[in-house]
Amino acid sequence: MLKQTTKQLHVGLIGDPVAHSFSPRFQQPAFDALGIPARYELWHTPASQLVERIRSLCEPDCLGANVTIPHKQAVLPLIDKIDPLAARIGAINTIVHRDDYLYGYNTDAQGLLHALHEHGLGEMHNQRVSLRGHTAILLGAGGAARAAAFALVDAGIEQLIILNRHLERARHLAADLLHYYDRPIFSLNDPSFLIPRTSSIIINATSLGLHEDISPLPVETLEQFDPDTFIYDMIYNPSQTYLLCQARLMGFNTANGLSMLLYQGALAFTLWTNQPAPIEIMRSSLM
Ligand code: NDP
Repeated sequence: MLKQTTKQLHVGLIGDPVAHSFSPRFQQPAFDALGIPARYELWHTPASQLVERIRSLCEPDCLGANVTIPHKQAVLPLIDKIDPLAARIGAINTIVHRDDYLYGYNTDAQGLLHALHEHGLGEMHNQRVSLRGHTAILLGAGGAARAAAFALVDAGIEQLIILNRHLERARHLAADLLHYYDRPIFSLNDPSFLIPRTSSIIINATSLGLHEDISPLPVETLEQFDPDTFIYDMIYNPSQTYLLCQARLMGFNTANGLSMLLYQGALAFTLWTNQPAPIEIMRSSLM
């Protein structure tokens, strides 16, 4: 539990850019609701100022930070203690300042699993989501895809297919996963490759859809997938990407990345404060 204090505390988002972020929208109401005198700030940090910024997190009034593009990997060597899952993923999105040390975590991974569970996938045992019996197609092999891949395999997914424009990157991720997990994990980039229609989850972790009206799926149509396939797009702004629009028109169950944003933020809040996050307050502030 955070020590009772009336002193103003600080926590913020480190990235470049940060102005577009939705995080203050739902983190600040959470601190306010619990009466924690903390301000969630936007800390625009070009790469040249990253070391100095991370050093500033050791100030006594700082709880820690979130980290976003492009620094999630670059902060790793600047952190004292790295959570094993974050180390495997190779990216940190949450830093906690505790007892004069900086601890690094990746809450994107568990955030995605909690989001999928909220959308009716998998089962929850002891606060952990199990995806046993599911197979997934993961689109992308960048930072967010790495977090998703480790989360899915950690949750017991039966089979994972990683599709990425640059095959080398997908191969690299598959090899990293196979180092830790004994599962069928495949990497591809060939659009003509037969993608199993029985995949129960498709996750877009590419940035395709942020601006362009094209699908990140290298198939002509979604028709080849079972009607009960769940299609999740990590992008939340725009709220309906081309992929989600197509999928919805065809009757698939879909969701955008707002739920992942909410849960990764809630997990970060608990790490900073040692208190359960007021999830409904965060959700209504975000929506
Ligand atoms: P990265 O830059 O690390 O990765 C980008 C990915 O998109 C790579 O796989 C890249 O493929 C692919 N890509 C980019 N442009 C194209 C293109 N023109 N055609 C095909 N593939 C392309 O970004 P992140 O992993 O950090 O973020 C990915 C997405 O996830 C973003 O939209 C981000 O907003 C979202 N996100 C959402 C979160 C949430 O809480 N909802 C959390 C984190 C991220 P290649 O390797 O071939 O270049």
